[in-house]
Amino acid sequence: MIQKTGEAANTKCVCPECKNTIDLSRYPNLVVGMIVECNHCGMTLLIKEIVNGDVRTEIVDEGK
Ligand SMILES: [Zn+2]
Repeated sequence: MIQKTGEAANTKCVCPECKNTIDLSRYPNLVVGMIVECNHCGMTLLIKEIVNGDVRTEIVDEGK
């Protein structure tokens, strides 16, 4: 795998829906409260917390 160097290089995020690691290279400036989309299952996720590069997310219910 090719890994880009940059500010977000050490962050990782596992999708709570499909359990795959989300490609965060599309989101170079991750902040809490931001919406990201899982590149595997397309789930919309809200960033709740970023702890030591570990991005914790919550599934956003788009049905409303
Ligand atoms: Zn997913």
